[in-house]
Amino acid sequence: MKIGFIGLGNMGAPMAVNLARGGHEVRGYDTAAPEPEGVTAALGATEAAAGADVVITMLPNGHILRAVADQVIPAMRKGAVLCDCSTVDVDSARAVADQARAARLGALDAPVSGGIGGAQAGTLTFMVGGSDADFATVAPLFDIMGQKAVHCGDSGAGQAAKICNNMILGVTMIATCEAFGLADRLGLDRQKMFDVVSTSSGYSWSMNAYCPAPGIGPQSPADNDYQPGFAAELMLKDLNLSQQAAGSVGADTPMGALARQLYDRFVEHEGGQGRDFSAMLQRFAENNR
Ligand code: NAD
Repeated sequence: MKIGFIGLGNMGAPMAVNLARGGHEVRGYDTAAPEPEGVTAALGATEAAAGADVVITMLPNGHILRAVADQVIPAMRKGAVLCDCSTVDVDSARAVADQARAARLGALDAPVSGGIGGAQAGTLTFMVGGSDADFATVAPLFDIMGQKAVHCGDSGAGQAAKICNNMILGVTMIATCEAFGLADRLGLDRQKMFDVVSTSSGYSWSMNAYCPAPGIGPQSPADNDYQPGFAAELMLKDLNLSQQAAGSVGADTPMGALARQLYDRFVEHEGGQGRDFSAMLQRFAENNR
């Protein structure tokens, strides 16, 4: 397939590389990042999109996605599919899909889970909103970039799944960190705490796969001085998206609201900016009196 790839940052670059290695012709564009190996440089988003069968976007937010969509939709050939893999608000995902369909294009929202490691290894999970036909067109590309693609429903359903998942992630990471803080104060060894919780009913991905305590559990950003990984400000972005969505449909999400508040404080006032989201553990350790 001919693929236009717009947004070649931490996630987009390795995803584009994997598609090129998979035998596809990939033309890429980014306003700042260089083209990675195997990806042909386009002069702009429009040039990357023209003539492509599938245009993939991997951008910072919904505002930028809407601006890029305004540029690329008129340049795409009829019948091609615009597949956005960024994490954005549900309203932007639906608006861009409507705009694409009005131009006789296919459209998918297909945010991912798995982080930079998953993007490099080609083991991402895609959660996808859009039609069966468009999902079938892009499925072979999901197979290259990831290990699983779940077709969640119509446009916006992929983003809905993503923000619900990440709301759980934010809440469980905070719960795991505050429990380590309490364990410290109670004189419980962190390794023992991990050994018990990771095999008991308090287990979660945050504890078992991404343990926020250095030197414990599998390798995680905690073992690398909390270099992200998944930056605290990206977690804050996703918690803001889930609260925005909850507000728009009247869903009661008190834990999500508190997680958003704690990550906001962590990023804005407690040194969390630029650190992995699991560095929240240090915040609890420092706040313990
Ligand atoms: P990033 O900031 O590294 O990459 C975004 C890229 O978009 C940058 O290189 C930027 O220059 C480029 N860009 C911005 N405006 C542009 C424009 N108008 N035209 C072309 N390129 C433009 O971010 P990332 O970590 O790659 O994340 C991308 C998306 O994936 C985000 O929506 C993020 O929430 C989501 N995500 C990230 C992770 C992660 O672990 N990093 C995990 C899952 C989902």
